[in-house]
Amino acid sequence: MHGHDSPAVVVLRLGHRPGRDERMTTHVGLTARALGADRVLLPDNAGQSLETVADITDRFGGPFEVELTDSPYGVVRGWDGVVVHLTMYGERVQDVEADIRSAHFETGKPLLIVVGAEKVPFDVYEEADWNVGVTNQPHSEVASLAVFLDRLFEGRELECEWEDAEKRVFPTETGKRVESVSEE
Ligand code: SAM
Repeated sequence: MHGHDSPAVVVLRLGHRPGRDERMTTHVGLTARALGADRVLLPDNAGQSLETVADITDRFGGPFEVELTDSPYGVVRGWDGVVVHLTMYGERVQDVEADIRSAHFETGKPLLIVVGAEKVPFDVYEEADWNVGVTNQPHSEVASLAVFLDRLFEGRELECEWEDAEKRVFPTETGKRVESVSEE
């Protein structure tokens, strides 16, 4: 998470059906950025989602990286660090979150968080250090990613400061207050 000396958190989106998954893949990227991940890797047919996430980062700040990969399974297999796969079939997040935090923050190893689109191949379940369910009910990659990141960072991500933003939103009780950030 930026602003802290913590090891990298990277989100990997497995699978993307052009057209149908456009918003979901974009929202995986936006959620990863907003809730403290450092980077999102998208499948190479998700160029449109990459553009949107990069554009939001330009306007609302970073640091955050968005990249395409032509080998998402290679990323999982070759990951030098901790791999968490979010799946409704996994262990309960509340039972494993502390062990995951230790494996990531105490060892300084980078964390890869894998979310799927359609059916995820069984190899990923085997490669993962933890298969984690945010409830064992079917819902969405965006929702599970949001809850998992908040559990991982224990709420600290809500205090993130954003650098090099063009726009800043000021929280208000009613209405919308957005200001351009002037260059100093
Ligand atoms: N039935 C699919 C399967 O076998 O993997 C699940 C597809 S689901 C629409 C898309 C993604 O949402 C999953 O790959 C998983 O990452 C995430 N997801 C859905 N429900 C979840 C849950 N309860 N806990 C964690 N992740 C979940």
